[in-house]
Amino acid sequence: MLFEELSLSKSIQRAVYEQGYTNPTPIQEQSIPLVLAGKDLIGCAQTGTGKTAAFAIPIIHQLHRIVGSSKKAKQIRALVVTPTRELAVQIGQSFDTYGKYTNLTQLTIFGGVSQNPQVDALKNGVDILIATPGRLLDLHKQGFIDLDHLHCLVLDEADQMLDMGFVNDVKKIVKLTPKNRQTLFFSATMPIAIRELAEMFLTKPETVTV
Ligand code: AMP
Repeated sequence: MLFEELSLSKSIQRAVYEQGYTNPTPIQEQSIPLVLAGKDLIGCAQTGTGKTAAFAIPIIHQLHRIVGSSKKAKQIRALVVTPTRELAVQIGQSFDTYGKYTNLTQLTIFGGVSQNPQVDALKNGVDILIATPGRLLDLHKQGFIDLDHLHCLVLDEADQMLDMGFVNDVKKIVKLTPKNRQTLFFSATMPIAIRELAEMFLTKPETVTV
């Protein structure tokens, strides 16, 4: 399959081709149409399979259509929760790359650094927020993060979040988001505890395994 067969907006296709990608990877080929169709998704995929683009590309496509060049105040419409700072930074870079020809704004937040620049950026308004669980909850508690307008929630590396003891934080975060959101759940492994978590958060999910 070619990327151009996925009916993505021209601005995304251009960014993808600039990366030198002509064909979607298997996780992308299977996930992108499902995400574009508004489905909840369980993606069983390791890092290195192209799973970041499997959620970033359709999210950018959808938000680009919704937000377009509108001058409306920016609201957080997509949230990606991931366990580590390194993953958060990589995901932020991917959104930057694939969204470079759109007007979407995004921010990556994580703990262990001053919160002030993150708070300033939040005050300016962002469409897409990439976050580690602790800092997200902390800034939400302080009133800097409003998740009431969220369309899409991504829980990335769910098994790692469980291993790192973030399960209660993740549950709290999900509760802060609208019930009618789209939820995408990625995990490298699918032990029973992860399946149960997925069942709690997702509605009639499609499962993609690579
Ligand atoms: P990820 O699994 O998201 O960490 O991605 C692994 C690597 O694959 C990253 O360096 C991406 O830049 C690269 N990549 C993602 N999608 C494609 C694609 N369709 N074709 C070639 N490389 C890709």
